[in-house]
Amino acid sequence: MDHEPCIGVLGGGQLGRMLAFEARRMGFRVLKWTGGDASGAARLADHTLLDEFDSESAFVEFTNTAKVATVEFENIPSALINRIATKIPIMPATAAVSICQDREKEKNFLHSHHIPTTQFEIVKDAESLQHALETISGDVILKTLRDGYDGKGQLLVKDDDNRLSATEIWEEFGNTDAIVEKRINLKIELSVICARGQDGETITYDPAENEHRNHILDVSIVPARISPELSQQSQELAKKITQSLDYVGVLGVEFFVDHDDNLMVNEIAPRPHNSGHHTIDACAVSQFEQQIRAISGLPLGDTRLVQPAVMLNLLGDIWDAPTIPPDWAPIHRIPGAKLHLYGKSHAKPGRKMGHVTFTAPTLDEALAHMESIKKTYQIGNDNH
Ligand code: ADP
Ligand code: MG
Repeated sequence: MDHEPCIGVLGGGQLGRMLAFEARRMGFRVLKWTGGDASGAARLADHTLLDEFDSESAFVEFTNTAKVATVEFENIPSALINRIATKIPIMPATAAVSICQDREKEKNFLHSHHIPTTQFEIVKDAESLQHALETISGDVILKTLRDGYDGKGQLLVKDDDNRLSATEIWEEFGNTDAIVEKRINLKIELSVICARGQDGETITYDPAENEHRNHILDVSIVPARISPELSQQSQELAKKITQSLDYVGVLGVEFFVDHDDNLMVNEIAPRPHNSGHHTIDACAVSQFEQQIRAISGLPLGDTRLVQPAVMLNLLGDIWDAPTIPPDWAPIHRIPGAKLHLYGKSHAKPGRKMGHVTFTAPTLDEALAHMESIKKTYQIGNDNH
């Protein structure tokens, strides 16, 4: 057992869990360091360190045991990634992760490579916020520069007459540095999962069409119902980003498309992405296997979509009680439906507890199955 090479994963959530599944199937051992996250999703590893990320003993054990390391979540302290890199190879590299950790750096990086984004301003006080509100027309969204996910740390500011003053908005937002973005009237949201190997080979998956509810991903539809031009453009942009970051591993690029079919990059996730979970059941090689291949220096695999797929996120809202899941039989009855649960011990509203992938010979069938399951579990009703 100990002869099998060990992959170290920083983070204790579902992405690392799905990565561990694939790694173990492929004959690797997995060591997780959760940084204090004891939600339960990490349990699938061979060994789990529950210590905080500043623990010296965990650092020693992690770097002595793992042959190669990766991160499952971008909000891992860069100093830790740097320090691990002095002992064992860690992919993606800190330089790439730290760009994606900070919305200001991310936007500046994209601009320096002439990649389109939403109009934005960085604000550091009420005066600069006032200036941004005057410069950007229409509704805007304030976002914290760091640590946001699933819409956390965001405030919509409508362009109406009874809008609060810049000072009041600044106080409501918590007096913290932020990015102000123009709110796009979205036609569609897309994402492209891209992988780059140690030899520089760069490949993409078919774009996913993403629907959000309360800023949290609800459904991903693959292939996205877009023109071949938009599909190609988004994949080319994702490749350009990955190559410009000199990235090794899997990365997710989120895009906005407005009603004039303008493509804008929203954000970059330096890891496998929620909108790529269908790749486990619907693609020749999943995004998680691809990540293992990339970081361990293996050839990248086939990204081909074998069947149309629709992925539905299962949030804690549909649990009967924090530790009591609903009856899953209706999902198991549907041909082509695959249930994935993340092993988290407590459900909370908005918490990602699992997902279902519906595959079918046609996208319409997969969509119909997804809609029927949404009705069964009352997903998308006001109370859910
Ligand atoms: P997170 O890190 O929480 O995923 P995002 O910036 O991706 O943050 O925002 C989450 C979702 O909120 C987006 O997928 C989109 O649906 C909506 N959103 C965010 N920014 C904008 C914007 N500028 N215009 C329109 N919708 C937006
Ligand atoms: Mg996002």
